[in-house]
Amino acid sequence: MATLRFKAIEESMKHKPVSVPSPSEKISDFFGIYVFDKSKMLKYLSSDAYEAVMDAIVQGTRIDRKMADQVASGMKTWAMSHGVTHYTHWFQPLTEGTAEKHDTFVEIAADGSAIEQFSGKLLAQQEPDASSFPSGGIRNTFEARGYTAWDPTSPAFIMENTLIIPTIFISYTGEALDYKTPMLKALHALDKAAVEVCQYFDKDVTKVISNLGWEQEYFLVDEAVYNARPDLILTGRTLMGHASAKNQQLEDQYFGQIPNRVLNFMKELEFEAYKLGIPVKTRHNEVAPNQYELAPIYEETNLAIDHNLLIMQLMRTVSRKHNFIVLLHEKPFSGINGSGKHNNWSVATNTGVNLLSPGKTPKSNLQFLTFLINTLAALYKHNALIKASIASAGNQHRLGANEAPPAIISAFLGQQLNKMLDEIETRVTDEKMTPDEKTVIKLDIGKIPEILLDNTDRNRTSPFAFTGNKFEFRAVGSSANCASAMTALNAALAEQLVEFKKQVDELIEKGVKKDEAILQLLRKLIKASKAIRFEGNGYSEEWKAEAAKRGLDCEASVPKMYHAYLTEQSRELFRKTNVFTDVEMEARSEVRMELFIKKIQIEARVLSDLTVNHILPTVVEYQSRLIENVNGLKSLYSAEDFKALSGRRLAQIKDISLAVETVEKLVSEMVEARKAANRIDDVDERAIAYSDKVFPFLEEIRYHVDKLELIVDNERWPLPKYRELLFIR
Ligand code: ADP
Ligand code: MG
Repeated sequence: MATLRFKAIEESMKHKPVSVPSPSEKISDFFGIYVFDKSKMLKYLSSDAYEAVMDAIVQGTRIDRKMADQVASGMKTWAMSHGVTHYTHWFQPLTEGTAEKHDTFVEIAADGSAIEQFSGKLLAQQEPDASSFPSGGIRNTFEARGYTAWDPTSPAFIMENTLIIPTIFISYTGEALDYKTPMLKALHALDKAAVEVCQYFDKDVTKVISNLGWEQEYFLVDEAVYNARPDLILTGRTLMGHASAKNQQLEDQYFGQIPNRVLNFMKELEFEAYKLGIPVKTRHNEVAPNQYELAPIYEETNLAIDHNLLIMQLMRTVSRKHNFIVLLHEKPFSGINGSGKHNNWSVATNTGVNLLSPGKTPKSNLQFLTFLINTLAALYKHNALIKASIASAGNQHRLGANEAPPAIISAFLGQQLNKMLDEIETRVTDEKMTPDEKTVIKLDIGKIPEILLDNTDRNRTSPFAFTGNKFEFRAVGSSANCASAMTALNAALAEQLVEFKKQVDELIEKGVKKDEAILQLLRKLIKASKAIRFEGNGYSEEWKAEAAKRGLDCEASVPKMYHAYLTEQSRELFRKTNVFTDVEMEARSEVRMELFIKKIQIEARVLSDLTVNHILPTVVEYQSRLIENVNGLKSLYSAEDFKALSGRRLAQIKDISLAVETVEKLVSEMVEARKAANRIDDVDERAIAYSDKVFPFLEEIRYHVDKLELIVDNERWPLPKYRELLFIR
């Protein structure tokens, strides 16, 4: 039975580093060659068409049909110069990853000859057969069709002879069916709200964007060994496997030498990424064996997300060339760190100012404090929703598992900045400030850049940490589309800024000076959102108790976390920012719940199959050998000698039988629990049943199977073990 496993291991030993051609040019010579970026647009578009695209990017104006025709034609000419034959609308359905449908440029003319064509109509809109993408019932209720529409703010690019056009995906009646549409709306809401607030400080600000720098963690496993693990193939994670004698306890992996096979994979991945204009910057080992991280330089959020999705796609294809499989699941291996995707996030103006970075003058620092404190207020108000935005069946293994903060959102600012906020809280009052008081405050605020310079303490246990000029949102899962988190976060800040502006204006109207009005409101927000600030150890048990006392959302069950999307507070947020309608929110809620159910359902089925058909037969076979052996001893020895010689063996035979009985019982109970859950009509209730009643069996069954792995003859064990999966030779 174990032959498959050993063949796989043998096969994996044959995998040597695959050589990668090293490019003869500098990176800057081929960076973005496959992207229809500004330089190509200038070359291939008329100046009118170029302006139309730029206006669409900066001001969100619509591109009319005539201009779209010109853009399409320019794109086609450029793409064909690279041997492109097909085009596709690329979109982000509510499943994982991206979707596309390829069409050729070729049309047949009336005389039967072939001609390459690409019109503005085809560029602007497509109707993919979308019936199999999750819609939460939107398409059933409204109209069966859905369509994709060009997103000119993310440039088209070429992959494998295909021109790829980033698009949004919506139902025929206009409801979003994807991740991109609501995110673009959230970014738009933030832009509007933030520009208004920036006007207090700088009249030249006309546009505010959100920036995102993601850090993608992932595991690599050898392809041959992976192929012998049905659980990895079907669920992306190992559902069983005893810890290897050595895993991450020596802490020798982080910043250690990257094995050649892996290095070559990374080089090719980077090469491909550069050609697609993805500014990959760092690569290094992570904490766990076979775990790595890749991070680009930050970009505008919409583009950064498209690039993240592209990188995940590239990782899958490039890894295969190197006989690896990339694991993007949040927790592929039990007992070993999982993978996340830190989202480094900031907001910046068209004047080149990072609003989350202290400036050089008291005025710019007051602006910095305004954005910082409003962010805290938004995070506080919507902490449950922001947590829901990163919740998933995969990510629940990671949060609160002593490698990531608990399932509670809090913000870390660092000692110095905290002191600064405390100071504003005590010094500023609702009374008119004296000139002396003003001077003191100004001096204090002016000091921020210096105090931040030597503020090097970075709390690694915080889910939302201020790191000098950005917040690092660390709770995002490695396989997630960052758009979910970025939509919630940017929308929450947008709503908060609108409220802030309204209240400042009211004070100004009452005759309070602008700076004083701003300070008074900041003080109010500091006081009101204090509960979200936490500087201590986010991994500790004390924090869980403390957070509950502070009234932060401590829900740990994923389906129940999702309920935060449907509270009146969240509905109001999304309505006000125009991000989701009520219909969309309800539809999405259903999609999320369904996805959660399906994930656990598949895991439960795979675990049943592996246990009943792979593990238990092996165990029983091994036990029969033991029984044979004992019977042999019995025939050879006197009763007294036999007793002395076979006591432990007999006990082991009994232990195995007990374990087999237990596992079989648990498996059938799990099947029953699943059946019972399936009978529940309400999707929320069903998801909760899967979480509370089915999910716990996965851990319990695995516990017994992993113990059996230690008992049974290594030669017979059917599945590659952790040590064989985790160390690349
Ligand atoms: P770490 O110490 O966590 O590895 P780094 O300083 O290397 O963090 O940065 C991680 C990511 O943060 C990179 O993608 C980087 O480009 C991004 N980043 C840096 N500054 C900003 C910013 N102002 N806004 C958003 N992301 C940023
Ligand atoms: Mg980081």
